[in-house]
Amino acid sequence: MLTLIRQHYLCQDCLREGKITVAKTVHHIVPLKDDWSKRLDQDNLEVICLEHHNQEHPEKSSGNKKYFKHEVAVKKRSDVFKFSSNKDDDKLFW
Ligand SMILES: [Zn+2]
Ligand SMILES: [Zn+2]
Repeated sequence: MLTLIRQHYLCQDCLREGKITVAKTVHHIVPLKDDWSKRLDQDNLEVICLEHHNQEHPEKSSGNKKYFKHEVAVKKRSDVFKFSSNKDDDKLFW
């Protein structure tokens, strides 16, 4: 991949810290979910080592996955019975 060659297979984050780390992971600086058009943008690609990549994606590396609680929708039964007006009472007025 062009980015890997261009960035010499070195983690760019490590380089910034003065370390030389060979890496083969290409990270999208702007996540594709935010901007799909940047998927082939060379300026949006960065060679990154696994350790740094995990830092960039804490949600992926984290063991504490958030489980979505499925709230059980408790349907309230309509226990209210509608009584029709007592027509029998009307008969009293006949
Ligand atoms: Zn690194
Ligand atoms: Zn990434």
